Amino acid sequence: MFSDKKSFQEAFLKKLEMTYGKSFKESTVQDHYHTLGNMVREYISSDWISTNEIHRSSHTKQVYYLSIEFLLGRLLGQNLLNLGIREVVKEGLSDLNISLENIEEIEVDAGLGNGGLGRLAACFLDSLASLNLPGHGYGIRYKHGLFDQKIVNGFQIELPEQWLRHGNSWEVRKLDQAIEVNFWGEVEMVQEDGKFSFRHVKGEPVSAVPYDIPVIGYKTDTVNTLRLWNAEPSSFPVHKDVMEYKRQTEAVSEFLYPDDTHEDGKILRLKQQYFLVSASLQSIIRAHRNTYQTLTNFHEKVAIHINDTHPVLAIPELMRILLDEEKMEWEDAWYITSNTISYTNHTTLSEALEKWPIDLFQPLLPRVYMIIEEINERFCKELWESYPGDWQRIENMAILAHGLVKMAHLAIVGSYKVNGVAKIHTDILKEREMKDFYQFYPAKFNNKTNGITHRRWLLKANPQLSSLITEVIGDQWIKQPHSLIKLQEYVKDPSFLQGLKTVKQQRKKLLADIIQEQTGIKIDSNSIFDVQVKRLHAYKRQLLNVLHIMYLYNRLKEDPNFQIVPRTFIFGAKASPGYYYAKKVIKLINSVADVVNHDPQTSPFLKVVFLENYRVSLAEYIFPAADVSEQISTASKEASGTGNMKFMMNGALTLGTMDGANVEISEAVGKDNVFIFGLKAEEVLSYQQNGGYRAYDYYHHDKRIRQVLERLTNGFLPDTYDLFEPIYDSLLMQNDEYYVLRDFDSYVTAQQKVNEAYRNENKWLQMSATNIAHSGFFSSDRTIEEYASDIWGIHSTKNLLNQ
Ligand SMILES: *Cc1c(COP(=O)(O)O)cnc(C)c1O
Repeated sequence: MFSDKKSFQEAFLKKLEMTYGKSFKESTVQDHYHTLGNMVREYISSDWISTNEIHRSSHTKQVYYLSIEFLLGRLLGQNLLNLGIREVVKEGLSDLNISLENIEEIEVDAGLGNGGLGRLAACFLDSLASLNLPGHGYGIRYKHGLFDQKIVNGFQIELPEQWLRHGNSWEVRKLDQAIEVNFWGEVEMVQEDGKFSFRHVKGEPVSAVPYDIPVIGYKTDTVNTLRLWNAEPSSFPVHKDVMEYKRQTEAVSEFLYPDDTHEDGKILRLKQQYFLVSASLQSIIRAHRNTYQTLTNFHEKVAIHINDTHPVLAIPELMRILLDEEKMEWEDAWYITSNTISYTNHTTLSEALEKWPIDLFQPLLPRVYMIIEEINERFCKELWESYPGDWQRIENMAILAHGLVKMAHLAIVGSYKVNGVAKIHTDILKEREMKDFYQFYPAKFNNKTNGITHRRWLLKANPQLSSLITEVIGDQWIKQPHSLIKLQEYVKDPSFLQGLKTVKQQRKKLLADIIQEQTGIKIDSNSIFDVQVKRLHAYKRQLLNVLHIMYLYNRLKEDPNFQIVPRTFIFGAKASPGYYYAKKVIKLINSVADVVNHDPQTSPFLKVVFLENYRVSLAEYIFPAADVSEQISTASKEASGTGNMKFMMNGALTLGTMDGANVEISEAVGKDNVFIFGLKAEEVLSYQQNGGYRAYDYYHHDKRIRQVLERLTNGFLPDTYDLFEPIYDSLLMQNDEYYVLRDFDSYVTAQQKVNEAYRNENKWLQMSATNIAHSGFFSSDRTIEEYASDIWGIHSTKNLLNQ
């Protein structure tokens, strides 16, 4: 049905009529979207079935990627691209006077994630399928994804997100494969054949119903699966309030928690975690049993990866199934479990490390808790043998201590591999945050620098740049992103650079139009587009960016000789609804924008834009249009960052600290092709350890800082009264925990260098081209290949598929 445009048209019109009982004339864009979505899903169904069949029959090892978040964004456009049918569809629709772009635009993002961690999981799925690897995702089908953000009077307002309102063409509900997950209840001890064993009984069941979404590889026959679990009432209990039971069960998959950097100690969150883990493990084990009739080879045929600690209960849950249901001995069960699970750490921020009060944990998951106790006891005994008498060390490393379950400790003890997400991050884990564990288990620790799928963030998001690249070096880069390095030969080629300039100009105009439509602000598309888009968090230091804008504004007002290349500062960021400080920073950005954009004296040079509701689909318009990529976190705090890679791949130059993957970006392109500033991680860590930082000194000795900070609270920003006092206090009274004032001067200097560099257009284009040429390393294809060979031990099934 997609072989040529005529047969596509026929199939499309027929399907439209059959599905909606409407004539083509009466149909809406929404109808067209769902019709097309259903056609694509039917088109891939035989490949989907045969991928599963081949994985089963070939007895090949599988990986299951467990993640509490999958930030997928829109699926239609990417699926058409990966299937290689987007052009046929586009032309076929065009003859019917329908624009494919319009159809793609009405798809609501699947926003089942907060930020980088969830987007990473989505990029990994694309790479797994495109590399023909047997790898599947397991997550939760939240009814409401991350909230929709509105900006009203400069303040963030949150609205519930409703991605399922118009239905979801991509998912297939599989009620026959539903699984029961039990909460509460008690543990019963039973004696069988003279052996004691345990059972979780009298639990409150929740039914986990799988919704499968196909994950379509780029021009391959592989269609993997993302399985999302929906929580529903199981058989209704007679003795309970039925409505209350229904409400409570459905609540489990109702909302995504809108925070990725603070631990959230709510019981519903813990329920979600166990729900994901228990349903996924039971389902994986059921499939394994069907194929092998035994679990003794489980770890040889299955790898389970946990994306951060949220799914760490996979460890005691697998133990529970092997012990209580499979009746294995502890040692055998532990051998299998601790050779099946691997774990990625995403943060060193202590406020983000998950810890659950035992008081809360134990009643909800009594048998799982009991198993954690046993794991802890055996682990502490091992520690005692290695470090006799070193009580302090054992206390620090224990899984259960001070009334808390320490999820990261459980993850390290129960996994065969533990990885960080960028070189510097892994080094910090080994040398500091997890030093004791690294000493005890040196072979477990390894690095896997994050990546992004270049097929979404370049091929799909930036077709103009993609065509240019393909014209110059051919299209091999789409399957083999490291071949982007061939562009290195052209970084001084005038016609390539001219092409690059034209493409960037085109994309900046497009974003300028979107900005005008959404905010009413008219921006100069010849100005430097200086962009900071990411979750709003103190450590990401959007505040440093705003303070610099306030400084630039002051200079422009006071010094008639001060000249800059016109600059547009663009922000996009959601703040967690309960994160008071982050919401203040959003308001501050908008207040500064109000002043700056309305001042006729400065507005030719300076514009500030806050784009509301930052999300994947909006990001796809932002990265291609950026000149400058703001990656200005306090060194040591950003584990990797992936936004930095999307910018680089689209030819933006990084202005950043030596943090996360910025370090590797700067190594890849060389110091002349990035703007690095600020404290190094060691310096930050040394301040933290030894003290010696006094924010007041920077306030007193730097007039620029004094003036900017005074303007936070002196009425300069209209109608804000004492709104920004908490920000002022965080910088001075609380001694500036994120070293904003310490890095201010260095940031200003780096910004001046950006300004000067941009004046030399040819040089700038060369730098931009160099960044694109070296971005192949940051494709998630490279990342996934490393995981596949170093951690999971899985192999491409390409040869099997072609048979
Ligand atoms: C890539 C991405 C992120 C992560 O951005 P960082 O700059 O790495 O924090 C967050 N949200 C969306 C929508 C993204 O696409």
